Amino acid sequence: AGPNYIRNFAIIAHIDHGKSTLADQLLLKTGTVESRDMQAQFLDGMDLERERGITIKLNQARMRYTAADGCVYALNLIDTPGHIDFGYEVSRSLAACEGCLLIVDASQGVEAQTLANVYLALENELEIIVVLNKIDLPGAEPERVRREVEEVIGLDCSNAILASAKQAIGIDEILAAIVERIPPPADNRGKDLRALIFDSYYDPYKGVIVYFRVIDGELRVGETVKLMRSRKEYQVDELGVLSPKPVKVEALYAGEVGYLAASIKAVADARVGDTITLKRAPAAEALGGYAEVQPMVFCGLFPTEADRFPDLREALGKLQLNDAALVYEPEVSSAMGFGFRCGFLGLLHMEIVQERLEREYSLDLIITAPTVVYRCTSTDGGELTIDNPCELPDHHTDLREPYVRLEMITPKDFVGALMELAQQRRGEFVDMAFLTEARTTLVYNLPLAEVVTDFFDELKSRSKGYASMEYSVTGYRANDLVRLDIKINNEVAEPLASIVHRDAAYRVGRGLVKKLKELIPRQQFRIPIQAAIGSRVIASEAISALRKDVLAKCYGGDVSRKKKLLKKQAKGKKRMKTMGSVEVPQEAFMAVLNIG
Ligand code: GDP
Ligand code: MG
Repeated sequence: AGPNYIRNFAIIAHIDHGKSTLADQLLLKTGTVESRDMQAQFLDGMDLERERGITIKLNQARMRYTAADGCVYALNLIDTPGHIDFGYEVSRSLAACEGCLLIVDASQGVEAQTLANVYLALENELEIIVVLNKIDLPGAEPERVRREVEEVIGLDCSNAILASAKQAIGIDEILAAIVERIPPPADNRGKDLRALIFDSYYDPYKGVIVYFRVIDGELRVGETVKLMRSRKEYQVDELGVLSPKPVKVEALYAGEVGYLAASIKAVADARVGDTITLKRAPAAEALGGYAEVQPMVFCGLFPTEADRFPDLREALGKLQLNDAALVYEPEVSSAMGFGFRCGFLGLLHMEIVQERLEREYSLDLIITAPTVVYRCTSTDGGELTIDNPCELPDHHTDLREPYVRLEMITPKDFVGALMELAQQRRGEFVDMAFLTEARTTLVYNLPLAEVVTDFFDELKSRSKGYASMEYSVTGYRANDLVRLDIKINNEVAEPLASIVHRDAAYRVGRGLVKKLKELIPRQQFRIPIQAAIGSRVIASEAISALRKDVLAKCYGGDVSRKKKLLKKQAKGKKRMKTMGSVEVPQEAFMAVLNIG
């Protein structure tokens, strides 16, 4: 069958609007997956994804569907990740499609990621089918949401489909619309091979599995391919399509989506966005749009037990095979011992990596507070990149920090509270507009450092969960920033250093020493805790020594209580590091994040 019988589409939505649930229904309805084999969110393969109910890696599935015209169509579904950290992957998966389903929760309406995803779809000139989902909910207002999509996005919603992914309502209409309204891929089978990589995944037996869309030409098993960006060459061992389980094929043609295996060692060798061509007949030009993903957030990871360092190194190596966005290098500190400085796309990415290290590799880690990447000019005129606050030299000029354009969408009642939040976080007002009578969009320029702390949590709590946000990095700006050092027992605790705006330094310094006083357990001796800028102490507290009678009381006759206490201590011990002869618990390393 030629391209006329192929449809490539993605599903885009704000998180939780029902993308994965709808994908499940499409798989069921087309008989791609039998209902007895169906687990909820079938495409969300990773345990973590299932537990958190989010889609981390996008996945694809080919479905066979007999349309009203009696013809059999191959529908290639590409599931996209819904979170901002993975925005680049969304963009690549859309570039592999001719159309998309835009899911909007009919009880909620247009949210920040709905808009961001629609912009990406429009940039890629996709046909958009609007699906108003969750119409089974008593609070669903499909008519209001239909008007909202028309007014806010400017999409014609006269043929929007009303659906409930949960109750399998509207699924036939959606399948019919995919065939009728999404254009088939262009017939480029006669050209030199060009295929766009939109995902890759490491398999311990076959090497990297590369997911791609053939744009031009054809690819056969046994051919030697060349990756136009990385310039690497590989012989193709296996070609296939996911349905959603892998099914081997001999060849893939322009318009088709599939995977290949070619003994590629790490996903970094076959990056998302690269173009595959043939070594013997290379295409003249790579496909457009290849972005190096840059880690935006860094933190230190240290094993609580020093002898687990080699295990941590091995675990990171394994994770990186499958995660080209993860970067790390060894970090040694007198306080923390041997560990790694790791870079991530964002906070969610960071949390996922940390959780996998602890869960899949049974590592107990001390994690230092995340920091953004600063830039400055050193005294000898050199350009420095600072991803660890304690490495900021005392003498430098022109300290710059990354900025984002932040877009919030909120019911109008919370506009005041969110404007206040953005202003407190050094936000610079850009724009405010009414999306509808009830909802407002707020745009700010804001330092990324202010967003990666607890901004999202604050946004949610100040809006009772109703506001959503989306941001993208726009560039660097010089600000009056200083390094805030923390001294424990008169020793600088390097992992607790942070970079803050000078105007906030006193407040943060005071808050931090207070917090540390609460978090660090008392010892036999008095412990001074200070915050300092350079040699100037700006805040200080002290933890008084534990008195003998307190100890005596604790270790008194009550056996069960004593046991409990010992158990608690043993558990607490796991996540401690000694700094300035003082045991510092894990929470202390994150304290700086909670000082608003
Ligand atoms: P995703 O984040 O867009 O992939 O959303 P999910 O498919 O994971 O769905 C988020 C939540 O909404 C889950 O608890 C689903 O069970 C629920 N959900 C999805 N579709 C519907 C629907 O049509 N009706 C109702 N009532 N709940 C739905
Ligand atoms: Mg999902």
